[in-house]
Amino acid sequence: MSSRTLNLDDTVYQYLLSHSLREHPAQVALREATRTHPYAVMQISPEQGQFMALLIRLLGARRTIEIGVFTGYSALSVALALPDDGRVLACDISDEYTRIGVPHWKAAGVAHKIDLQLAPALNTLDARINAGEKGQYDFAFIDADKSGYDAYYERCLTLLRVGGLIAIDNTLWSGKVATPAEDADTAALQALNNKLHRDERVDISMLPIGDGLTLARKR
Ligand code: SAM
Ligand code: CA
Repeated sequence: MSSRTLNLDDTVYQYLLSHSLREHPAQVALREATRTHPYAVMQISPEQGQFMALLIRLLGARRTIEIGVFTGYSALSVALALPDDGRVLACDISDEYTRIGVPHWKAAGVAHKIDLQLAPALNTLDARINAGEKGQYDFAFIDADKSGYDAYYERCLTLLRVGGLIAIDNTLWSGKVATPAEDADTAALQALNNKLHRDERVDISMLPIGDGLTLARKR
């Protein structure tokens, strides 16, 4: 027994997957389609997708934001957990990556819930704020360029209702945040982690799931 988070070796990780994972066949197929992609490591893990789906159901979320879609696994996980009239405002700049996911969104019957916006995320978010959508979203997942995280966090905080949740991915950055930064991405994540720790606008929890996932609930 330990009061610290267990360090998962392969055997325990396989146990966790085989005793908890409940993927839709389209999620399995999309992971398989992404497995050989040169940037496959960018995809969230299936247990993280399932955790985010649980958060969506706990929140009773209907309107959600995703910043960083890649081949669409996280968007698919969220969309499957949303009610039929729920929506994911899915922001990415790459048609090449996101088009891989579209057939799998269709196969899962959730393509109508995913509003893919191919443009720099900041433009999409600012347009929604200017269109009067402040305070109207329930959940946001931030998983794009790390230098943009702070701006995405601020926009999401504006777009979320009180009680809404922002999930920020890669906040442990392979552990690199714990030592002096040697690159801009690490420095950006460190600065945001420092800010979140003190940010009175939110309740937070930094979870050692995947590469670190910080949850911030708007007060
Ligand atoms: N959430 C995805 C998943 O689970 O498969 C992984 C997202 S991947 C880590 C980051 C994505 O951010 C890439 O698809 C990239 O094209 C996108 N991206 C990078 N800069 C962006 C920007 N300025 N606006 C929107 N998306 C951006
Ligand atoms: Ca990520």
